[in-house]
Amino acid sequence: MFRMGAVTDDDKLDKEATRQVLRRAIGMAKPFRRTIFAALCFVLMSTLGLLLGPVIVRYGIDSGIDMKDTTTLRNAVIAYIVVVALAYLAARQQYIFINRAGEGFLRALRVRTFDHIQRQSLGFFDRYQSGVLISRMTADIESMAELVQWGLLQFVAAVFLIGLSLILMLSLSWQLTIAALLVMPVIIIASRKFQRDSNAAYLEVRERVGQNLSELQEGIAGVRVVQAYAQEKEQTRQFVASNRSLYQSHVHSIRVSTWYFGLVEALGIFSTGLAIGIGGWLVGRGDVTVGTVVAFVLLLAQLFEPVQQLSQLYNTVQSSAASLDKLFTILDTEPDIQGGSEELPERADLIVDGVGFTYPSTDTPVLRDVTISVADGERLALVGPTGAGKSTVAKLMARLYDPTEGTISFGGIDLRDATLGSLRERVVVVPQEGFLFGGSIADNVRIARADATDDELREALDAIGALDRFDAFEDGIDTEVRERGSRLSAGERQLVSLARAALVDPAVLVLDEATSSLDPGTEVIVEQALDRLMIGRTTIVVAHRLSTIQHADRIAVIDAGLLAELGTHDELVEIGGRYAALASAWAQSLPS
Ligand code: ADP
Repeated sequence: MFRMGAVTDDDKLDKEATRQVLRRAIGMAKPFRRTIFAALCFVLMSTLGLLLGPVIVRYGIDSGIDMKDTTTLRNAVIAYIVVVALAYLAARQQYIFINRAGEGFLRALRVRTFDHIQRQSLGFFDRYQSGVLISRMTADIESMAELVQWGLLQFVAAVFLIGLSLILMLSLSWQLTIAALLVMPVIIIASRKFQRDSNAAYLEVRERVGQNLSELQEGIAGVRVVQAYAQEKEQTRQFVASNRSLYQSHVHSIRVSTWYFGLVEALGIFSTGLAIGIGGWLVGRGDVTVGTVVAFVLLLAQLFEPVQQLSQLYNTVQSSAASLDKLFTILDTEPDIQGGSEELPERADLIVDGVGFTYPSTDTPVLRDVTISVADGERLALVGPTGAGKSTVAKLMARLYDPTEGTISFGGIDLRDATLGSLRERVVVVPQEGFLFGGSIADNVRIARADATDDELREALDAIGALDRFDAFEDGIDTEVRERGSRLSAGERQLVSLARAALVDPAVLVLDEATSSLDPGTEVIVEQALDRLMIGRTTIVVAHRLSTIQHADRIAVIDAGLLAELGTHDELVEIGGRYAALASAWAQSLPS
């Protein structure tokens, strides 16, 4: 079972890798540079507002209150209110712009990743479980959202504020600046420790969240098995345990933060006290004005929060970089099935020549030296024990994978040299159970050819004899199939799947016959639909039913990855080999 969002070694990148990943992300953010620039201008404006406030207060105190000049005081108050209002508006705008850029970036990334995944070959999906891919598209993109929306903004705002505050403070009084910054070494040491501890705590939380999610997922997916054996209590007990460890890791991570945030706050108060004390003394000596001391206190009050934010940001950057890195790994995987430039002929023989195959995810060859020529219009049944390699032969014939040895050609053209468009038009695979998407019956048939007209859809359904059945529904072929086609019976779902193939009208049909049997009524309809679909086409069937095998022109027996026998039913019975044994076993099992 996959662990969604679980921590792997690559959850922590080294500095160089982090830098590279971020650089690449910045490159990808180029289309949004205007919005980001606008956001940064507003960040600068609101920061200036924060700094200007204390300066106006200083002016109000020194030139207004101290001089008993009410006009100056009034002006200072008005200026202060205006500045605060402008700073508020700028802060609002900065959030709007940065969110626009952030969401736009994430949307583009999501679409790009999805599109890339859609174009991958089956080999890719052998390597990546669907849960992992979903976690890339959700958890990893989510973890980036924090960085692109808040992180970036906070970082720039904090750097502006800290930098400009220091300059301003120095220009007001260097003695007070030194006094206020006495606590800096302590803050730097504490921040470093916090970064280390909180990063470890964060990774721990993520790991436990992953475990918890996978427990939850298994618990829901496997609920029937659990109930069948009355193991609900045991399952809940396991879930309680995994929740407890998640709880503990959260508590630990919060303890790490509270320790640090508490310290920074205390140090902030301490340095304010220091500024007031030393400031008072300096005022007594006539070195600074009261207004300057008050401005200092106000500046200090807003200086410590950005320091905290910067420390936290370190984690955000790290986890986002790790997430981005994982996404980039996917984006960098070129689809291994790429189209060539040759158009396949309308009709031709399909030739499998000396084909060997090993699945990308394993090292053991599952097919060795298989050679079969299927003549145009011929019906070939693939038979053999489970796991022999029949479906693999079928998948190779439709180029869902490329053979590791030998070639498969249609009309003398290696499938690897054919355009993907002409290949998918000539050769269509009908899987054991076709996936149904949310939408209507018509939508589901149209999956095979998005530009098909309604008439063409009806023709395809009619060609396999399924139109009347669906027309009898209240909404006809516009009936919603609901999730995975739950509104339809198993047989009707297969009819939809066959109608897709009929819509493409291919020269070669590769069928993986369903092993599970349908109710007798529907079975007849599905069989008739299949018969109609096969007329006039080259058909390769991974066959499980005697009737299908008997209707085939030739039979290929696959055993342990080898082509054991090839010939007509009569020829193979004559040889007296594996097929003959199979056929007689079947004959005996049939009711006499
Ligand atoms: P059959 O259709 O004859 O039952 P398959 O062609 O499905 O057999 O499988 C042949 C062998 O290849 C089996 O040992 C099976 O475990 C293995 N196999 C099938 N699909 C995959 C896959 N996607 N990745 C790795 N091994 C696979």
